[in-house]
Amino acid sequence: MLPVIALVGRPNVGKSTLFNVLTRSRDALVADQPGLTRDRKFGRGRFDEQSYFVIDTGGLAETEEVIVTHISQQVDVAISESDAILFIVDARQGLTAADELIAQRLRSANKPVYLAINKTEYLNNATASAEFYELGFASVFAISATHRHGVQDLIETILKDL
Ligand code: GDP
Ligand code: MG
Repeated sequence: MLPVIALVGRPNVGKSTLFNVLTRSRDALVADQPGLTRDRKFGRGRFDEQSYFVIDTGGLAETEEVIVTHISQQVDVAISESDAILFIVDARQGLTAADELIAQRLRSANKPVYLAINKTEYLNNATASAEFYELGFASVFAISATHRHGVQDLIETILKDL
């Protein structure tokens, strides 16, 4: 069985973009409008001879407004179907209430959680990351999905831990 990594996060943080990087596909629909990916997507990726599956759970929450009602579903899918959870937040938007809700739910999961702070290209990593440490996750990575920054270090760490 290949390890399964689930991507979790509120709309528009870059889940589908990262999915495409991790699977080297253009499969997931990357939206200029939040929530365009309708269903969760499975993809296969490989790093250093190690293959893995990635799930993009993005389709379950359409907008920031309805995320509260869908959050349990999205996170429960991620928890039940994965070996590791990649929780993505947006450095440009900063920490939001929805991020805190997701974090709260993930903390009670018995799965390893990796926090990826996305869209950090052209930002100072330490400054961009600072506010997100209050979410309480130990494994924190500053990345840029569109610029492929930090993604290799992130996937390498996840696979090593599994
Ligand atoms: P999702 O709703 O979480 O799946 O987010 P998407 O992958 O559809 O991305 C939402 C928007 O953020 C798109 O316009 C992406 O091009 C943009 N985006 C994704 N990753 C990055 C990044 O690393 N930096 C910047 N500046 N924009 C990004
Ligand atoms: Mg998406």
